[in-house]
Amino acid sequence: MIHVHQIGDIRITGLTEYIGPTHDPKVLYPDWDPAFLDRHDSWLNNDFWFKNLGRLVIGIQIWIVHAGDRVILIDTGVGNHKPRGPERMHMLNTLVPQWLAAAGASFDQVTDVVMTHLHSDHVGWNTVPDGQGGWQPAFPNARYVMPETDIAHFRALFEAAPQDDPSFGDSIAPILEAGLVDFVEDGDLIAGHLRAQSAPGHTPGQTIYWIDDRAVFCADLFHHPLQISEPHLNTAYCVLPDEARASRRAFLERAAQTGALIFPCHFGGSHCGTIGRDGEQYSYLPADPAAAQRF
Ligand SMILES: [Zn+2]
Repeated sequence: MIHVHQIGDIRITGLTEYIGPTHDPKVLYPDWDPAFLDRHDSWLNNDFWFKNLGRLVIGIQIWIVHAGDRVILIDTGVGNHKPRGPERMHMLNTLVPQWLAAAGASFDQVTDVVMTHLHSDHVGWNTVPDGQGGWQPAFPNARYVMPETDIAHFRALFEAAPQDDPSFGDSIAPILEAGLVDFVEDGDLIAGHLRAQSAPGHTPGQTIYWIDDRAVFCADLFHHPLQISEPHLNTAYCVLPDEARASRRAFLERAAQTGALIFPCHFGGSHCGTIGRDGEQYSYLPADPAAAQRF
């Protein structure tokens, strides 16, 4: 549930909001081919795939970065008490606030909330109920950092059909109105430690964040490690398909070259790992769970 990794002086804690065999691969991946299961049978164990259910394992990961005097969250999961379309995300009631506090990232302690993109499963804990039927910022002492391109995209979707996805209204608009948002641009150094890199496609403004060449929060470039081995595979949620594939391939090349530990948002198993390369073929090398420090 909570696992800790050390990158030099920087501590990275992963907090799993929930995880399980939730996704039918044919629904998640419009170009799904059952042959993928045979091709990757050697590593598709129960960390990643439940054969008898026919479901891919997908989690919701909130990454916490302690660096100097900064307490940084990378994305904020689904959140509690929020009406959502998919059953697995609807009106959650988890112990995330207590888990954050246990990890040294209580609502009051967080200094920076950094968004990779603005899908509803990445912004939920931005806000909590205000006691009057509305929503208020959850992290009163934090600046919230997000890509401006995504704000425009998701605001337009919300205004056209708020009932389809209310997340912009309950999780983004309240922090914009509170004046707590800073926009991130490609190349910016965020919170003193995170180098932003634009990685558009999954959403128009998707941004990933590097700690030198040693670690990288790689957002939804991948929902599942199958996309590392099959990088042409986009999810049904990738807004700009060609750009998504181009960003994924460019990332794989750099991640394999640097050996950076990648911190995606939705992977099962040990939740993070490195990228192997054999010619044009990439593979996911999960971090040894034993290497994660006990919490
Ligand atoms: Zn996403």
